[in-house]
Amino acid sequence: MAIEVDAFKRVPVREQDAQVRAKNFDEVCLGYNEEEAMAEASRCLECKNPRCRMGCPVSIDIPKFIHEVKVGNFAAAYEVLNTYTALPAVCGRVCPQETQCEQKCVRGVKGEAVSIGKLERFVADWAREHGLKPQVRVKKNGKKVAVIGAGPAGLTCAGDLAKAGYDVTIYEALHKAGGVLVYGIPEFRLPKSTVVAHEVENVKALGVDIETDVVIGKTVSIDELLENYDAVFVGSGAGLPKFMGIPGENSNGVFSANEYLTRNNLMKAYRDDYDTPIYVPKKAVIVGGGNVAMDAARTALRLGAETHIVYRRSEAELPARAEEVHHAKEEGIIFDVLCNPTEILADENGWVKGCKCVRMELGEPDESGRRRPQVVKDSEFVIDCDCVIMSLGTAANPMLANSTTGLNTTKYKTIEADEATGATSKARVFAGGDVVSGAATVILAMGAGKAAAKGIQDMLGTTPEPIEE
Ligand SMILES: Cc1cc2nc3c(=O)[nH]c(=O)nc-3n(C[C@H](O)[C@H](O)[C@H](O)COP(=O)(O)OP(=O)(O)OC[C@H]3O[C@@H](n4cnc5c(N)ncnc54)[C@H](O)[C@@H]3O)c2cc1C
Ligand code: SF4
Repeated sequence: MAIEVDAFKRVPVREQDAQVRAKNFDEVCLGYNEEEAMAEASRCLECKNPRCRMGCPVSIDIPKFIHEVKVGNFAAAYEVLNTYTALPAVCGRVCPQETQCEQKCVRGVKGEAVSIGKLERFVADWAREHGLKPQVRVKKNGKKVAVIGAGPAGLTCAGDLAKAGYDVTIYEALHKAGGVLVYGIPEFRLPKSTVVAHEVENVKALGVDIETDVVIGKTVSIDELLENYDAVFVGSGAGLPKFMGIPGENSNGVFSANEYLTRNNLMKAYRDDYDTPIYVPKKAVIVGGGNVAMDAARTALRLGAETHIVYRRSEAELPARAEEVHHAKEEGIIFDVLCNPTEILADENGWVKGCKCVRMELGEPDESGRRRPQVVKDSEFVIDCDCVIMSLGTAANPMLANSTTGLNTTKYKTIEADEATGATSKARVFAGGDVVSGAATVILAMGAGKAAAKGIQDMLGTTPEPIEE
């Protein structure tokens, strides 16, 4: 039966039931089928000056790919996406579309914006299920580029350079490629063995070589890479966790979200067939209000804990995506907002037994434009818990910059790089993604990888030559 389309409302997307999914690690959102995708695509007005496109950091021709979905030509829709992004199945799932393309969609003025992210995801999944692969259509140009880090920035830069005829090798410190996509974002939001591994394979299919278990700055230096490569791109991310510096933070049962999530996602601690140890709390306090905090909370919940988010501002200021907050609440996570930890309490064996907090209220806006949280006098109280997961954001690891002469950094220890070209203070070295911007988003890291790929091509003065059919 054909789906009836209401021009002002999205075709609803199927999801796992909240009570069921709170106990498993399977993907929450089930995506559109062909009929649903075509119905949703028919809501697009195919604007001549598409505002959605202006909201996309990699400028995907959104009306063009949506048109192909509308007429049922899914392979052509994939071709369009493929021109702009190496990771459409990832972006369709985790990009904050509600503040980017979808926020600008004209359909959103009087009703609900077109579900651009869900359509992107549908096309990428359809292409995977039907064995479609991106193609290289240019001759090799004899130039070699080394890429440090196989996260979204590195994969994008490498993919674009391979498509332009370069020989590219990615060096990745971990045993798996994907960066935060494999170690940070949980399986229930972004499946690893199907979605992430497939998009990494697509980058390899362009001719990119990926060497894992190589820590640049320790195993090999950037200067040594420069002896063998024409250029180097640094996309090493911002994986260094931050802590609050409060008493008791060294107690047993206090984790950084990065460690907790890495054990579970990359090292598969949640699966019976893996030996990775993970602490399964009875009651966990997650400190922070961003995507990372939501991921840590929803992971602890699925492992079996009663889970509280403790956030110092109000719900309106939560930096996490609205969809993640909505899902977390549906699953039963308790939000203790306007509340800030001051001390972690431990028992005689050094194990967490509580989190001392103060109540907060919002004052005048600070330099970020958000209202400054202030302590409410005499408001101290204790949340009994046996685990605290600090999810306060991450910083760039200074190891690479410290081991490389002439590579300038900012006061935040991020690498200084030109936004338009990725060029750094060191000749032939480019950088982009979280290592330059600080912790940001997948699509911004991809945008930076793209800009650097273009910067490298401009520096090396090569023009792609098509392969004759
Ligand atoms: C838990 C979590 C949830 C998130 N959720 C979202 C979300 O929903 N939506 C969104 O858009 N963004 C989200 N983000 C942010 C997003 O994942 C990052 O902004 C993005 O991954 C940055 O990409 P990148 O390539 O710069 O770095 P990364 O993804 O961090 O990749 C860097 C890679 O470099 C490797 N590396 C580091 N140092 C070296 C070295 N010396 N030698 C070799 N390799 C090295 C690392 O091992 C890593 O694989 C989330 C982040 C986290 C932590
Ligand atoms: S702005 Fe909205 S309606 Fe217009 S082309 Fe983009 S997705 Fe379609």
